[in-house]
Amino acid sequence: MAPSSIAILGGGLTGLSAAFHLSHRFPAAQITLLNKDIHFGGWVHSRRAKLTLKDGRETSVLLEAGPRTLRPNSKSVLELINLLDLSSSLLTVPKSSPAARNRFLRLPGTQGLHRIPSSLLSLLTSGLSPKSSSLHSPLGYILLSAVAREPFRSWNRPPMIEDESVDEFLSRRFGTEFARIFGSALVHGIYAADSRELSVRAAFPSLWDAEERGRGSLVTGFLRPSRVLATAEVDDPPYQLGDVEERMRGVSVYSLSQGIGVLVDALLRELRTRRNVRLLGGVSATGLRMNPRTAQFEITTSSCETLRATHTVSAVPLPSLKGLLSPKTPLPHLTANPYSSVTVVNLVFLAPPGRVLHPVGFGYLVPRMSAGHQENAILGCVFDSSSMSAQEAPWSADIVKMTAMLREPVASIPRLVEMLSEQLGVRLPDPLIARVHDNVHCIPLLRVGHLQRMRELSGVLRGEPWSGKLEVIGAGVGGVSVGDCVEAGRRAGKSWA
Ligand SMILES: Cc1cc2nc3c(=O)[nH]c(=O)nc-3n(C[C@H](O)[C@H](O)[C@H](O)COP(=O)(O)OP(=O)(O)OC[C@H]3O[C@@H](n4cnc5c(N)ncnc54)[C@H](O)[C@@H]3O)c2cc1C
Repeated sequence: MAPSSIAILGGGLTGLSAAFHLSHRFPAAQITLLNKDIHFGGWVHSRRAKLTLKDGRETSVLLEAGPRTLRPNSKSVLELINLLDLSSSLLTVPKSSPAARNRFLRLPGTQGLHRIPSSLLSLLTSGLSPKSSSLHSPLGYILLSAVAREPFRSWNRPPMIEDESVDEFLSRRFGTEFARIFGSALVHGIYAADSRELSVRAAFPSLWDAEERGRGSLVTGFLRPSRVLATAEVDDPPYQLGDVEERMRGVSVYSLSQGIGVLVDALLRELRTRRNVRLLGGVSATGLRMNPRTAQFEITTSSCETLRATHTVSAVPLPSLKGLLSPKTPLPHLTANPYSSVTVVNLVFLAPPGRVLHPVGFGYLVPRMSAGHQENAILGCVFDSSSMSAQEAPWSADIVKMTAMLREPVASIPRLVEMLSEQLGVRLPDPLIARVHDNVHCIPLLRVGHLQRMRELSGVLRGEPWSGKLEVIGAGVGGVSVGDCVEAGRRAGKSWA
């Protein structure tokens, strides 16, 4: 039976996307969204900081504490941009631009940053050129030899395994050095976590699929087109993309002129106009149970109101959901994944005349150290001024903005600036602005076996007492990217019609 009342727990991007789509799909249902924080949007925090330039002019810079760039492959986010009329705020980074092509690694024990070849072709052509330095750089040699050998390695996936860590997977196909350097750096950049713990199938399903398509070889698999249609393409209503998809042709990443927070603000504006939606900020759910007598959910809240609903979507972190349930009706696997913490530090410098503070590019990542070396606190650093300079006023050209990501709280800003200077091989001046955000338990680390555990969770939710009326979604279930979260919200309640 179609829902007459829906409770949504959590007002991050997952919960807001669910409210947006459910209120449209079930216009007769009363929808109440509870969010623990007054601030909606969860980890999305886009703020402007004021700054006075040398000539006395006032300006401001955009500082992101959470997500900052999006990939154009998520149609559900493009759809929101179209439906919420945000396309005039789009800022895109073309794949061909240096800001997209130049991505660096910082290899401890070597000087400065090393550029990662932007494609297999450029790696092969630069590696084969007699004047090339690629083969002689540690990075170029590891990359070229690993990629060139991979198609000749036999199919070495152990029989019967359903999943493995990103590190195990890449080590099998490309060797341990490649896995340690490239795999760990990538996982540092996305999950702030250890690639030896992250599930390859949950985090990078395309790698697993490519290995199957290529009959064991990932390189061959990527050269063969995939014939499998995603379920979304088969059952879901078509995405309403307007001209936004067209504008994403050849785009590597994108953002919005006032940051990702604009997406949250526009969702809130739209939801406040919908008569069947009630948004409660600063109100937590404190308990969740299904009353078998009324077949309704009863949700106790921090505001003392008990909410009743025929259907519920949980879009809170899984450990928070566990805390809401009675021990008589537990759900499995809610605490199977730990959450990583990451300290994000926004730094704004005034570029000294004639000096370049970083190379043009997206930024750099720091891989895991080899055994016996102490891990570096810095996971990576994004060069915002290269990729998103249009977020600042045109006269702010001598401002350099970068964002460092650390695995632990920073000891002091001067110490951080010293460490970054060492990694960049440039002496950075004192920053004009340094904003520290200690994001505690912010990114779920989807451990090996995650997909199987989530299948078991769905099975339990289909049975009694839930009968499919409680949906559990969010970053800890279906993937951590903004695209995964918005897509999960779009699909919420699909089986309720
Ligand atoms: C530092 C950082 C950088 C990132 N960068 C990117 C990026 O560049 N690109 C990208 O695609 N992704 C990025 N991500 C990932 C992405 O931003 C997140 O995975 C996503 O925003 C999570 O959304 P969510 O709604 O599932 O969860 P959350 O954002 O965690 O929201 C959960 C909400 O639930 C509320 N809540 C909790 N408990 C209760 C309760 N009991 N009752 C009611 N409400 C409750 C909280 O107040 C919160 O608002 C980044 C994440 C972080 C932390």
